[in-house]
Amino acid sequence: MALLGQLRRPQPEPSAGTPAETVKALVKDDEPAATVDFSKQRVVMVTGGTGLVGKGIEAFLASDDEAKNESWIFLSSRDGDLRSMEDTQAIFRKFRPTHVIHLAAKVGGLFANMSQKVEFYRENVLINDNIMECCRLFKVKKLVSCLSTCIFPDKTTYPIDEGMVHDGPPHTSNEGYAYAKRMIDVLNRCYHDEYGCMMTSIIPTNIYGPHDNFSTKGGHVIPSLIHKAYVAKQTNGTFEIWGSGSPLRQFIFNQDLGALAVWVMRSYDSIEPIILSVPEEDEVSIRDVALMVAEAAGLREDQIKFDTSKADGQFKKTACNDKLRKLRPDYKFKPIRQGIKEAYDWFSSNYESARK
Ligand code: NAP
Ligand code: GDP
Repeated sequence: MALLGQLRRPQPEPSAGTPAETVKALVKDDEPAATVDFSKQRVVMVTGGTGLVGKGIEAFLASDDEAKNESWIFLSSRDGDLRSMEDTQAIFRKFRPTHVIHLAAKVGGLFANMSQKVEFYRENVLINDNIMECCRLFKVKKLVSCLSTCIFPDKTTYPIDEGMVHDGPPHTSNEGYAYAKRMIDVLNRCYHDEYGCMMTSIIPTNIYGPHDNFSTKGGHVIPSLIHKAYVAKQTNGTFEIWGSGSPLRQFIFNQDLGALAVWVMRSYDSIEPIILSVPEEDEVSIRDVALMVAEAAGLREDQIKFDTSKADGQFKKTACNDKLRKLRPDYKFKPIRQGIKEAYDWFSSNYESARK
């Protein structure tokens, strides 16, 4: 009852704000955030809004007309620790979202996943459990959570589609992360069956772009390689690529994923997941990607070295984007060579402040 009372509190006057009503949510008490325009049709709260994908959404909204009818809140961990139910409830009380895009997660590349399986499992389970339960408690109209193609079974047939999430164990390198993410799909159905909630999920492939985590130790392959290539360029040193270079991946630019995630939030009305991926024919090898990064940095061939003592991880996880294609037949993805150049240029222009 207390909860309902709080949700019915008088709403603040609409604020002028930007077209997208982008709110940097830093208020620390439980009062409704004065900067949120509650008169808008949708109040969309993005958890993990300061990360790679959150920044991709923000970039998409900057030139999107429909955002005028929405109020957007981009959260970071400074707004509260989503592993804590208390913090999570306080955030929901404050911002009263009608829609949630849930991106916040413990995220890392192959080498981070291999070394911290327990933390990848526990932290993500806690965050996801709190977000889903708060969406139920606060009567959120729609929750869109983010899975990943790396949670699919390791031993499988290709291409992988949305119906195969639970068809066998994931690759051992990231089983902590993968099982935590898989439970979102299970709970989407459970919350729907028991409480009638509209909760769904997107399954992106590997993602890259400006605002990534460019750590050479814990980051994903493209941002790590961009950082290493940048240093090799500055020092006239060696650009080291880990593993054999033969594994295959599909990569989606963060602003493409941002555009598609917003479309899912507005228009995709099924609790079943949807793969958000470039087509199968755009799959590239790690070697090809590394050469594109080297080209973006302007490195010479003799600066490039492969350290084959390092792990390759899963060989491939080729995903089928037929479901997306049927619903968005005209969507054009940024070509990877161009995207890598843009991400490299962003990193080199923002070297001091970039996450690394
Ligand atoms: P990211 O750049 O690492 O950003 C993570 C975001 O989550 C940040 O905003 C971070 O806040 C927030 N966060 C982390 N732990 C938190 C906590 N305990 N409480 C509150 N906020 C917390 O991640 P991303 O690459 O954008 O990933 C977004 C989603 O896509 C994730 O669900 C991830 O699993 C999924 N995904 C990513 C990839 C990829 O290649 N990157 C591929 C497939 C799927 P701070 O900035 O304050 O730390
Ligand atoms: P994954 O797609 O989930 O396996 O994660 P990553 O984005 O970390 O990509 C891992 C693949 O890139 C493996 O085949 C690695 O051997 C290869 N790789 C090459 N160099 C690097 C690097 O510097 N960092 C990372 N994370 N992977 C690298």
